[in-house]
Amino acid sequence: MTTIIDQNRGQRPRHPEKSHRPDNVPPRKPDWIRVKAPSGRGFLRTREIVREHGLHTVCEEAGCPNIGECWDQAHATMMIMGDTCTRACGFCNVRTGLPGALDPHEPENVARAVQKLGLKHVVITSVDRDDLDDGGAQHFALTVRWLRELAPDTTVEILTPDFLRKPGAVETVMQAPPDVFNHNLETVPRLYLGIRPGARYYASLRLLDRVKDIDPDAFTKSGLMVGLGESREEVMQVMDDLRTARVDFLTIGQYLQPSRKHAAVHRFVPPEEFAGLEATARAKGFLMVSASPLTRSSYHAGEDFARLRAARRADGQ
Ligand code: SF4
Repeated sequence: MTTIIDQNRGQRPRHPEKSHRPDNVPPRKPDWIRVKAPSGRGFLRTREIVREHGLHTVCEEAGCPNIGECWDQAHATMMIMGDTCTRACGFCNVRTGLPGALDPHEPENVARAVQKLGLKHVVITSVDRDDLDDGGAQHFALTVRWLRELAPDTTVEILTPDFLRKPGAVETVMQAPPDVFNHNLETVPRLYLGIRPGARYYASLRLLDRVKDIDPDAFTKSGLMVGLGESREEVMQVMDDLRTARVDFLTIGQYLQPSRKHAAVHRFVPPEEFAGLEATARAKGFLMVSASPLTRSSYHAGEDFARLRAARRADGQ
C-alpha cells in the first residue's frame, strides 16, 4: 500500500482529525494482496498527461494498490473538485480539511486529458464538498457535458459523494446523464459511525434508488469493502438492500489500511470467500458482480461496463 506523505503543505498532517488517534499497526499482507510496482512506459505517459492537465486522481490520492496495472493501460480515475475532502472517513486516504474554490476550467481539462489518453471508458469521482450549496452536482454535470463534447466515444461512469442535505443535487447530475451512476455504500450500517461518520446509510441507498426513479434505464453501481469487522450476515443484508434500491452492479474488495491512524484491518478475506460472496450476490439478482481482494469501484471498469450492458441485453431488459 502506498501512503502519501504531505510534501507540499509544510507540517500540516494529511488527516489532522486522525492525528490524536492511537496507532493501529496493520497486519502483514497475505500473498494474494501482492501487486506490481508502478513502472513502465504506459504508467509514465499516464502520469505525464495527468500532471500536464493539473488533475488529481483517486488512484494516487487514495494510494490505490492497482495503480501500476491500471496506469500502464492508461486507466486513471479522475478526482474532481480539488484534493481536499470535507468529510473524515475512517478508511480513506484523501486529504481532509477546508477545500479551495472550484476550478472552472477543470471540467474541460478532464475532458482534454481523457481525449489524449484515448479512453473507451472513464470513471470520474470527487472529494466530498459539503461546503458547496449543491455539493458539486453542477460541476459533475459540466464535466460529463465536456466529455460528451470532446470524447464522444468514451463511455462515462461517475462515482459520486452522497450529496447529503443537498436537495436537487442528484437531479442536476442526471441532467447530463452518465452511462453508469456509481455510489459506494462502503460498509455495513453498524460500522458507519467509525468508517463513514458523516454519511447516513439510508441516505446513500435512497440516492441510488432515486437515480432509477429519474431514469429506470440508468445503470447503477455500488461497492463494499470487507475486512473491517463486518459479519457475513450483515453483508447479505446490504446486498438485499441494494437490490431493493434496484442497483445493477456490485463491487466487493478487501479494505487496506492507508496508515496507522486509519481504521484497523480486522482480517484479510481469502479469495475463495470472495468467490462465495460473488456467487451469493449473483443469486440475489445483481446483473454484474465483481468481488476479489483487489477489486475497487473503478478497477477494470471499462471491461465490466461492456459485460454489464451485455448482461442486460441477455436478460431482455
Ligand atoms: S483501481 Fe481505480 S483507483 Fe485504483 S488505480 Fe485502478 S483506476 Fe485508479
